[in-house]
Amino acid sequence: MPKPLERLFTYKITEAESNFLKPGMRVAVPFGKSKIYTALVYKIHNIAPTAYEAKEIYQILDDAPIVNEKQLTHWRWIADYYLCAFGDVLRAGLPSMFLLESESLIVRNENFKEEEILNDEEFLIYEALQQQAILTIQEVSNILDKKTVLPILNRLIAKGVLAVKEEFYEQYKPKLIKYVKLKDTYNSDKKLGVLLDELTRAKKQKQAVMQYFSLDASTKKPIKVKTLQEIANVSAAIIKTLVDKSIFEIYYIQTDRVDFGKSNKKLKKLSEFQEKAFTEIQASFQEKDITLLHGVTSSGKTEIYAKLIQETLTKRKQVLYLLPEIALTTQLITRLQQYFGDKISVFHSKYSLNERVEVWKNLLHKKKKTQIILGARSSVFLPFDNLGLIIVDEEHETSYKQFEPSPRYHARDSAIVLAKIHQAKILLGSATPSIESRYNAMRKKYGLVTLDRRFGNVLLPEIELVDIKEKYRKKMMQGHFSDRMVTLITEALEEKEQVIIFQNRRGFAPIVTCNTCGVSPECPNCDVSLTYHKFKSELRCHYCGYSRSMPKVCGACGGISLTTKGFGTEQIELEIAQIFPDVKVARMDLDTTRGKNGYYKIIQSFQAQEVDILVGTQMLSKGLDFANVSLVGILNADNMLNFPDFRAHERSFQMMVQVSGRAGRAKKRGKVAIQTFNPYHQILQQVTTNNYAAMYKEQLEERYQYKYPPLLRTIKITLKHKDFNKVNRASEWLAKSLRNQFQENVLGPTAPSVARVRNQYIKHILIKLPSNKSIKKSKIILKKIRISFQSIAEFRPVRFIFDVDNY
Ligand code: ADP
Ligand code: ZN
Repeated sequence: MPKPLERLFTYKITEAESNFLKPGMRVAVPFGKSKIYTALVYKIHNIAPTAYEAKEIYQILDDAPIVNEKQLTHWRWIADYYLCAFGDVLRAGLPSMFLLESESLIVRNENFKEEEILNDEEFLIYEALQQQAILTIQEVSNILDKKTVLPILNRLIAKGVLAVKEEFYEQYKPKLIKYVKLKDTYNSDKKLGVLLDELTRAKKQKQAVMQYFSLDASTKKPIKVKTLQEIANVSAAIIKTLVDKSIFEIYYIQTDRVDFGKSNKKLKKLSEFQEKAFTEIQASFQEKDITLLHGVTSSGKTEIYAKLIQETLTKRKQVLYLLPEIALTTQLITRLQQYFGDKISVFHSKYSLNERVEVWKNLLHKKKKTQIILGARSSVFLPFDNLGLIIVDEEHETSYKQFEPSPRYHARDSAIVLAKIHQAKILLGSATPSIESRYNAMRKKYGLVTLDRRFGNVLLPEIELVDIKEKYRKKMMQGHFSDRMVTLITEALEEKEQVIIFQNRRGFAPIVTCNTCGVSPECPNCDVSLTYHKFKSELRCHYCGYSRSMPKVCGACGGISLTTKGFGTEQIELEIAQIFPDVKVARMDLDTTRGKNGYYKIIQSFQAQEVDILVGTQMLSKGLDFANVSLVGILNADNMLNFPDFRAHERSFQMMVQVSGRAGRAKKRGKVAIQTFNPYHQILQQVTTNNYAAMYKEQLEERYQYKYPPLLRTIKITLKHKDFNKVNRASEWLAKSLRNQFQENVLGPTAPSVARVRNQYIKHILIKLPSNKSIKKSKIILKKIRISFQSIAEFRPVRFIFDVDNY
């Protein structure tokens, strides 16, 4: 049942139906007074429900299951473990096109070609959609004068005539850009002279070659065919002639085409150290199903993954490759597609529904291109039937955890269970493993393989701390840049190298204050001050999306002098333009990557060296591989470190090491400069010396002392309501009844730092489950407490949310 219902419902079926139906098939069922839903068969049994009279199903919608038994087992686990409704898991797992219901909206499928033969009823609907763009189920029902229309609609969807209306989706179709270079044979001056002599009579061709040289000398950057044509004022035919003569060569900068079926490249030969790690992983898999690969940034983990994938394919088993965020890893997708071309499918929540359904169906039909699935967290729900290996790349990434909406699952942990169901192996990889995974490896629950050399023995970047307290005192700051940072950037730019500047906050400034009365404009819906976005001259709430234009005077006292406090990426971009007027700057954050292919365009132009300095938020830390970046600057390490969360130090370490890892990946040693008010902070010392072991040891001691995961488990309960007093009373009541069961292991209720979001007041209660307590039993108790909470009339409207492993 797609509705987020806690329970399963029993329906009556005939004997013939029971012979035909299997778990995982869809049926149309009546529900409530007059609604019809698509439901999924979970189990066929003979036990009549006692609380209600079982209704009959309307119709069977499938000839074969669309969800297999392994999935059902997995989904059941997710619902039980994360204390959520099975219906929530269904909704997250199944593409909504499979789940027609009374509220669905039907639209025409734009790609439909009129080849399908439609029967009378089907044609009526098809025709109605020529008149009207959207139909409700009720309207379809009226047109056909029929109550059960879901089977017909499902048929039309299967034939590609209809689609279900979606809120939003993006097509993912990056384009290739053509570049030109001189063939290596002409690389010496002598041969060049010969070449130019040869071309004396081909004036246009000579012009193109000459211009190529002057561009190459002045920019030292890849040259676009288009640019060369424009500057040399020659046609495409001239360039082609030069290519035909083997003087020029055309190439494409690596891109992320969703173009499968490309010819397969051979895997790279592993280095001695990679080979050793590979052998150790295989040995580890002999004993343990789960192994952690702890390999420094740029150690060549991807190549090791590729070899493991190849091995798995020879055993005729499937591979799931999990990535934290598909849009940011276009480079990796390209690399794997070059190796495995037509055996890969990418599953992406930003793909259109049709594309996602296609991956689903291809998997059901065991198509060749589903041997490897590359996907973000929701791909753990796909219909795999024969997994041999799961790779969780960058396993420490927070984006593997879904916080909103339910199911609030962790994809890495769900993948571990999925691997178990398939009796598959699972490899967790990271340069900065999460404390919990490293802890599990230390306790021998997981195997552990380490790789501490970068590929090609390039040294890890040299990290320098810049004390900005000192710099401010000595007045050596230009905006938010210290003189040292400016020097380092200047040096890098002089060498024609690229620079990444990291600032973990978007917008121009997080706070605007009136100089006269000291009041800051706040969001009307949330208890938080509004962030100033200068480019759009707006104040925006980063919690609910509210925005208004920047006021000229203070709303409280009418004062005309307003200042800003703090800084974000916008401000940094502007400061760079002032300090380095001639360089090209680009910005990568949520605001610049919203549109179609937003990420892709920025990554692409930085890779093509059209941009010298890239400013961005934590998006920059996610596995990007730019050969020409020699300097990474972190402008303010302190606000990360001071974040009020027990993982703040761990996360800061991971973030800084990962961002640093973008420097000096290819040839020479990179450089990282970190500005801070507190250079003696232990985490900064650990980042500078790349001392993961020290960080791990210290963090684990703190977790032990203050009783935090991984030494025990936590479950967070959130209560929300628009009435402040009601939430207060509800949370007091709840904390009290929780304390009856869990005593001192209950913390709260507390209000979060932003205590009201979207006009809802929020209270948190944290439950710590010591490892000696049975988690299953505790969860049963928690469910019971929720039932008694909701049986109190006053509390019933309060939203009650469980978040298991809420970190
Ligand atoms: P990681 O995932 O550990 O950060 P990558 O797999 O991205 O590292 O490798 C870093 C760089 O080294 C990449 O540009 C990659 O192409 C190159 N590289 C890694 N292993 C090899 C190899 N065996 N042969 C040639 N190049 C390699
Ligand atoms: Zn708001």
